[in-house]
Amino acid sequence: MPNRNLATDACPGVLTVHQAADGAVARVRVPGGQLSAARFRVVADAAAELGDGTIELTSRANLQVRGLADGVALGARLAAVGLLPSATHERVRNIVASPLTGRDRPDDVRPLVAALDAGLLGDPELARLPGRFLFAVDDGRGDVAWSGADVAILSPDAVLLGGTDSGLRGDPVPLALACAREFLALRTDEWRLAELPDGPRRIADRVGDPAPSRLSGEPVTRGPLGRVDQVDGRVSLVAGAPLGRLDRAQAAALAGYDLVITPWRSVVVVDLPPDRAGPAADRLRAAGLLLDAGAPLARVTACTGRPGCAKALADVRADAGPVPGVDLPVHWSGCARRCGRPRGDVLDMVATGDGYTRGDR
Ligand code: SF4
Repeated sequence: MPNRNLATDACPGVLTVHQAADGAVARVRVPGGQLSAARFRVVADAAAELGDGTIELTSRANLQVRGLADGVALGARLAAVGLLPSATHERVRNIVASPLTGRDRPDDVRPLVAALDAGLLGDPELARLPGRFLFAVDDGRGDVAWSGADVAILSPDAVLLGGTDSGLRGDPVPLALACAREFLALRTDEWRLAELPDGPRRIADRVGDPAPSRLSGEPVTRGPLGRVDQVDGRVSLVAGAPLGRLDRAQAAALAGYDLVITPWRSVVVVDLPPDRAGPAADRLRAAGLLLDAGAPLARVTACTGRPGCAKALADVRADAGPVPGVDLPVHWSGCARRCGRPRGDVLDMVATGDGYTRGDR
């Protein structure tokens, strides 16, 4: 159970790292998941030279670097390429967005992501948001709007609060920022908007005049893998990271490409000329990245486990794999906390210290 007596939640950043059993862990915020080739190369080089060489992909489309002595040297490198624009606001820049926005369809919410990020950075009060507070910006396809973000924009003009339609309509970025400010005005020790008693309704009433009609949708728990044709004639490749982690060879295979990090622990290589898509796919596959939805590891996830987590009863990442005869996604955990478990129907494999049990809760 989280410690509510803490002045703030324990979500790591770069300047406030998490001390794990295998060294410090830093979380690098990547608003909207958009990451240029130059910036990814800085993260990959830093992971190799300052950490243990691996890069973890989080369910909020952020990156984690493990095995650090501290976050100081990493912070200096990230700041030099604009990945750490604010020391005060770094942990609140949690913005997921439709990963293929503007690529496979003309709707493009990248300008909204940039405006939302700028609005966050420009308001000193919003630095007080909990590190767990999440924004989503959905281009209308419904792939990130319904996944429980505290404040979600569903383009063109709807704002969802705590995963349900608030009825608020209008210029979505100012509305989203206003909702975040009202959350701060109402909260005591809550970290998420849905924890606030009757929070979505109270906030919507304070911010505007909610429309009576409501939109609805379902969380999307898995994204596509493989080739995606873009509307401009170029090609994207969606590559899954086995167990949500890029090793050195996989990071090297991705280096040189402009990327989008997805909330489904995959990476999109974007804007490839068609004649480069085939060789790029071969390169990613050769490094062990997953471009086929039917790949055995495409539906397997795992927590950190040993040696990174002191609570772990097993090296779950070494043990994790498909379970024969099971048609569900499988999540492997080193203890009953089941960190990183995807939403939806999942088979849990939970370490007991003497093997694994199939969890049922
Ligand atoms: S599920 Fe348990 S072992 Fe795995 S990361 Fe969480 S606390 Fe550690």
